[in-house]
Amino acid sequence: MEPVISEQIMTLHHTKHHQAYVNGANAALEKIEKASRGELEIDVRAVLRDLSFNLDGHKLHSIFWPNMAPPGKGGGKPGGAIADRIEKEFNGFDRFKKLFSDAAKTVEGVGWALLLYDPDTDRLVLTQIEKQNLMHLAQLPILLSLDVWEHAYYLQYKNDRASYVDAWWQVVNWDDVEKRFSKAKV
Ligand code: MN
Repeated sequence: MEPVISEQIMTLHHTKHHQAYVNGANAALEKIEKASRGELEIDVRAVLRDLSFNLDGHKLHSIFWPNMAPPGKGGGKPGGAIADRIEKEFNGFDRFKKLFSDAAKTVEGVGWALLLYDPDTDRLVLTQIEKQNLMHLAQLPILLSLDVWEHAYYLQYKNDRASYVDAWWQVVNWDDVEKRFSKAKV
């Protein structure tokens, strides 16, 4: 993703941060399994919060990575059905890009900007989440995700999250977004 996102950031982000969420989710699942077998008494509220935070962290990052492609391959404007839909619902790609960027830039503390699809209303949904424990298993399919936790940009962009967000558009993998959109529509 160089030069948009440095190799150091991507390596730490993937091997340390994402890995920690995977480990945390597995630990919470193990506790729930043991509790289900009557082998362990757990603080259900605390364990479910751990599970939500870590499993959602894993799920969001699993979408965030393929949502990106190297500069030159990624970036530009979307094509296909997702392009038509963005055009229709957001009055053009530029308006969408501005709104999605603003959602990412204005997350209070750490969190994500997400584009979702709601099959019930057949509408795209722009959303902003703080942190990442949102019990999103019960939520809507995610098409596009942008991580604005400090670990995603700070080593390179310092406190200038806005520049990271603006540069990030150069690595959006629209083919992946299109794939997720056609899958969500079924
Ligand atoms: Mn992250």
